[in-house]
Amino acid sequence: MQDRVLLISDLHLEEQRQDITEAFTQFLELNRGKCSALYILGDLFEIWIGDDVESLLTTTVADSLREFYTGGSSVYLMHGNRDFLIGESYAAQCGISLVQEYYSLEVQNLEILLLHGDSLCTDDVDYQQFKTMVRDNKWQTEFLKKPIEERVAYASAARKQSREAAKTKSTEIMDVNQTAVKALFNSTQHKYIIHGHTHRPAVHDVSLKQNGSTKTTGKRIVLGDWDKEIWFIEIQNGKIDLRTLPFPQQPLR
Ligand code: MN
Repeated sequence: MQDRVLLISDLHLEEQRQDITEAFTQFLELNRGKCSALYILGDLFEIWIGDDVESLLTTTVADSLREFYTGGSSVYLMHGNRDFLIGESYAAQCGISLVQEYYSLEVQNLEILLLHGDSLCTDDVDYQQFKTMVRDNKWQTEFLKKPIEERVAYASAARKQSREAAKTKSTEIMDVNQTAVKALFNSTQHKYIIHGHTHRPAVHDVSLKQNGSTKTTGKRIVLGDWDKEIWFIEIQNGKIDLRTLPFPQQPLR
């Protein structure tokens, strides 16, 4: 297998966006057997309210991922702020492994720290409070016990509220906090940080204090979302490339 690693995030798959599901399916088919690993850094789905809620979308995605996995590539999934309830049962259905945030990827002599990205948005105080609540184990256990209709209602209310709040929040509040970024770089040995979440694909050089070590600049590479095009990172020959592709013009089948 080629030592080629791919990373994606923020597909926000949902029933109403068949085009994204198609783009994802095709992306997997094109890369099947052509990479050692695929990392999905969160928000694969627009919403997830429990592994027990099945749909054509969830089974299509599971089948495509399993097919990809049987081609010889490992698939790792990190939770995002929308699909943090994906559990071991769905992961097993997909043939993928769930990984925790702040995952250290060591590949081709590169040390890269992977995260979804929302933890860096420390200026968004409302959101951070909400996150603390919903990431609590007890809250999640209670939530998953509720009837499906109740969970659907809660999720759509939360989504509506976050959309409304986003209208009044400045773009700075919604982006990463530079102090948080530097603190993260300084607390880790990693020279590279890769995340998604903000939907602002870019490669940032971050200047850091020389702290006895030789690391003076870090690179923060941000994946894009799949609303209008495919965004991915390809790691090959010791290089990290942020790349984009148009959506497929025609379905494969
Ligand atoms: Mn997100």
